[in-house]
Amino acid sequence: MSGIFGVVSKNKNCMNQLFYAGDYHSHLGTQFGGIALSGEKIIRRIHNISSSQFKSKLLEEFSSLEGNKGIGAISYEEQPIYVKSRFGDFCLVTNGWINNWKALTEELFLKNFSFSEISDSRINICELVSKLILQKKSLTEGIEYMYSKIKGSISLLILTKKGIYASRDKYGLSPLIIGKSREGFAVVSETAAFPNLDFKVVKELLPEEIVFIQQSGLRQKKKGNENNLKICAFSWVYTGFPASCYQGKNVEKVRENCGKLLARADQVKPDLAAGVPDSGTAHAVGYALGKGVPFRRPLVKYTPGYGRSYLPSAQSVRNLVAKMKLIPIKEIIKGQKIVLCEDSIVRGTQLKNYTLTKLWGSKAKEVHVRVACPPLLFPCIFNYSTRTKKELIARRVIKFIEGKNKKDISRYIDDKTSKYDKMVSQIAKDLGVTTLKYQKIADMVSAIGLPKDKLCLYCWTGKF
Ligand code: SF4
Repeated sequence: MSGIFGVVSKNKNCMNQLFYAGDYHSHLGTQFGGIALSGEKIIRRIHNISSSQFKSKLLEEFSSLEGNKGIGAISYEEQPIYVKSRFGDFCLVTNGWINNWKALTEELFLKNFSFSEISDSRINICELVSKLILQKKSLTEGIEYMYSKIKGSISLLILTKKGIYASRDKYGLSPLIIGKSREGFAVVSETAAFPNLDFKVVKELLPEEIVFIQQSGLRQKKKGNENNLKICAFSWVYTGFPASCYQGKNVEKVRENCGKLLARADQVKPDLAAGVPDSGTAHAVGYALGKGVPFRRPLVKYTPGYGRSYLPSAQSVRNLVAKMKLIPIKEIIKGQKIVLCEDSIVRGTQLKNYTLTKLWGSKAKEVHVRVACPPLLFPCIFNYSTRTKKELIARRVIKFIEGKNKKDISRYIDDKTSKYDKMVSQIAKDLGVTTLKYQKIADMVSAIGLPKDKLCLYCWTGKF
């Protein structure tokens, strides 16, 4: 995942707001954090944040950075891109992924374009977006052209000398929200950045909408298309920050709803409900409220500084992070029937090796795992993802049951079939838990509270 943010201030310097806005997006990535400021000149800074936080990297140079508007990104690649062009100097950040990047790159080579921001022998997606935009007569036309060419999803912010262009991807898969304060405007992926910086939401961009943000106000450059909205359901279940709201639905509340619905569908009578920290916590709070059992913390996370353990691509790093971050509390675990809520199960290895072993090792009596979303069967096609189909535990189990890779898995997707039940029982066996239940897709949709056709559910259904 990635997150983008920007600030346009009436004050001479917006660095303080940009710094904290960036900090409040740090949970969305562990590879790069970058900002660009526009004042008397344009300044750009990009840091590798794989071993230390965005905040601590920027703190060292904080006082030397100045500008009354700025943008930034927490991302899997180096951003912002700085472009000198006939539209003047501008900086660009993007959020999303382009599936046909190879074909578009070839097309641009034939037009004599070249690429310089190469990482892992792949072109930088943000640079590709800039080259597509540059082919038209204005930035607005260029953004529209880029949308017409890409297969995937890109939201973006463009910082110019005069203001910030903000545009949300053509399906609205990721949110992009504008806030206003007495000092100016901010635009963010995560509204969690707003309350402590005194911004209030004034506008949630629609798919493909383009807005130009200046000190004097907002100017719509292109209308959005509400009919295209298919926002990522995973944002509420896992990736989003609890204090954020997308389409007016708060993440923490949705997670509590998920937990309550899991409890309603459950026959088990546990002694306590617990969550796998951090994103399983609110699901467990909801479960405890729904079931009328105590919410307790048999596993505590030593520091949020470890970040998301599925994002670092090296398995050894993921394993180390998973092993070190959770500490079991024997005094709470011993002899207890525990319902453990998890946001989702990807590979299942960390849950099994570094979470469940800690509960069993501390003499839990029973461990019932409850998952806030249905079994993940398809890797995301709209964002940079390190996951492949064959890594997903549900896929591995289907292969085990069928004895081969099966093309048509519709009976495993349908939660009313015996194949589905068989898949879940086998996953439970592999994990070594007393029982395992996943949220039904209808309940997950109802917990979010938006119409089903406004959500991307591809990870679970394979349909978009
Ligand atoms: S494919 Fe999955 S993670 Fe990607 S946008 Fe859709 S629901 Fe979200």
